[in-house]
Amino acid sequence: MSSPTQPAADYIGVDVSGVTLRAALVAHDGRVTERREAALERDNVAVQVARVAAELRDVSPRVAALGVGIPGLVNRETDCVIVSADLPSVVRSDLHAELRRATGLRVELENDANAAAYGEYSVGAGCGSRNMFYVTIGSGIGGALILDGRVWLGTSGFAGEFGHITIDPEGNECSCGNTGCLETYASAPNIVRRTHDRLFRDGTSSLSRLSMNRDFTAADIAREARNGDDFALLMIERTGRFIGTAVAAVINLLNIECIVMGGGVMEAGDLILDPIIREAGRRSFQPSFESAKIVTATLGGDAVSVGAALLARDSAAPA
Ligand SMILES: [Zn+2]
Repeated sequence: MSSPTQPAADYIGVDVSGVTLRAALVAHDGRVTERREAALERDNVAVQVARVAAELRDVSPRVAALGVGIPGLVNRETDCVIVSADLPSVVRSDLHAELRRATGLRVELENDANAAAYGEYSVGAGCGSRNMFYVTIGSGIGGALILDGRVWLGTSGFAGEFGHITIDPEGNECSCGNTGCLETYASAPNIVRRTHDRLFRDGTSSLSRLSMNRDFTAADIAREARNGDDFALLMIERTGRFIGTAVAAVINLLNIECIVMGGGVMEAGDLILDPIIREAGRRSFQPSFESAKIVTATLGGDAVSVGAALLARDSAAPA
């Protein structure tokens, strides 16, 4: 703990999980005091992270540690990135050492979904709960589990693969090799695919007009649903039911206190959250459902960077 005369330390969190690098200067209490964003230099990640860390240290001289959220499997014991389908250049044994050398800071690497979960748990929608399941639904679907304040990694580090829960044994093939995974229905690209597949049945939807001009996105579908388009509403509602089916499995397995739903697809708000909750309620064991709080994430695009910074804060070896 800092003495009364000494201001508390700050932390830097960096998110390299998307096309944009997002960095945040985070105060000891989790407040973001400064942000930086730049196009991610995919083959130059260590140098870019060190550069943005240096910029943020010009803002605060009190930075104590750096946390980095990475789209891949990270061994927290050895600080090595073991697998990363989305960012292969970070799979190298000396990433952690290079970041330490370049910044002079203590460095913590963590999986992006785990980092986001820790952020929501510490200062976001899961704040105040002991046990929490975090789901992110965007271009892919991820999840992370926090039990008694710690990220639960599983035996070999893969715990929380919510997107690969089977919801249709005869469904489409998934990138993981299984068929009918939730991700093949409810990720943003698959919402668009399913919408395209059904559009010919309903030529009156505003999405038909939209799709004549350009390819529409999941965000467009959500916007049209908000504007009252029945077909877009139906697609969001059905997507929510698929997600709720998988949420029911989580509730039955864990009797969990809080489920936080994040990622771009959840920007549809109550239009998607309501069918998720309804379907989860219909398909799960009632006493478990009644004690589970299902809420949307509150940290938005800051979740990974804030969570990585707070993991760095809380990973300090005891003095
Ligand atoms: Zn799968």
